[in-house]
Amino acid sequence: MAFGQPRIEYKTNSQMRIMHEAGLVLSRALDAAVAAAVPGVTTKHLDDVFAAVLNEAGAKSNFLGYHGFPATICTSVNEEVVHGIPGGRVLEDGDIISIDGGAIVNGWHSDSARTVIVGTADPEDQRLSDVTRAAMWRGIAALATGKHVGDIGAAIDDYVSSVPGKPLGILEDYVGHGIGSEMHMPPDVLNYRTSHRGPKIKPGLCLAIEPMLVRGGIETAVLEDDWTVVTTDGKRSCQWEHSVAVHEKGIWVLSAPDGGAEHLVPLGVTPVPIP
Ligand code: MG
Ligand code: MG
Repeated sequence: MAFGQPRIEYKTNSQMRIMHEAGLVLSRALDAAVAAAVPGVTTKHLDDVFAAVLNEAGAKSNFLGYHGFPATICTSVNEEVVHGIPGGRVLEDGDIISIDGGAIVNGWHSDSARTVIVGTADPEDQRLSDVTRAAMWRGIAALATGKHVGDIGAAIDDYVSSVPGKPLGILEDYVGHGIGSEMHMPPDVLNYRTSHRGPKIKPGLCLAIEPMLVRGGIETAVLEDDWTVVTTDGKRSCQWEHSVAVHEKGIWVLSAPDGGAEHLVPLGVTPVPIP
């Protein structure tokens, strides 16, 4: 990159509108995978269901082949935090599974993750998922109201530490990221408060905001498959993620059909469609 060029890729409105198309395909594919996550099915089945929606829409997967990754989604069950590989594992009643996927339309990327509790939920797992999801929306709202990328992590951190009951840990080994002509781009989007404000939030910035929370310690390890990340204490973990665009009129959640209105309006932020 030439001297004086921005390190961050700022998108035009028309580029962000294509990213929104990629986000809408992704949202539908996640709907299908989430609906398919019931006791007795394999994680491979969820991958097949997800891939079928992408194929039907003519979208490409950005996960398949990424550094050799063999599937279109990551399926991370229980103590698996992220990057679990779909396969023969059969989902059991009470499992908590994060489904993380992405789609490419005309070269523009989207990335989003949801957590599902299969069958009967342990109330503490339900709380873990609810808090992680709410933390993600706090982070997204901070993208609209904040001045710097560091405001996102601060909002997530403040929210998680304000929740009554047993404290939940915020993972530090994995973070959110810029997204656009590639899936993973600068800047990093931390999920916790630091003394660094980070880059300024300005139109054209597109971020994947993805808090990962755990019921125990935040130490992680990578399994022998070189992909699956687990908590070292075996405690359960959870991830929620959306891709979000900043434009001159406001923000729009690219991977949500309503731009995030349902969850952002109660937080005082009204998403605005990309002009
Ligand atoms: Mg993801
Ligand atoms: Mg991501």
